[in-house]
Amino acid sequence: MSCLKGLKCRECGKEYPADRSFVCLECFGPLEADYDYSQIQAQLSPDIIKEREPNLWR
Ligand SMILES: [Zn+2]
Repeated sequence: MSCLKGLKCRECGKEYPADRSFVCLECFGPLEADYDYSQIQAQLSPDIIKEREPNLWR
C-alpha cells in the first residue's frame, strides 16, 4: 500500500521521506506518519482506519 506520503516532525513541522529515520534531524522531535487520507479512504472503509491507526503509531 502506498498511502504513506512521508513523515512529518511533530515539533517543527519539517517533512521527511517515508524511508528516513523516525526522529527529526533538526530538533530531535518525534516524526509522525503523514498519510494521504484521500487515498486511504478510496481503498479502505473508515471503520478499518479507526481500528488500525492507533495500533500502528502508539
Ligand atoms: Zn523537528
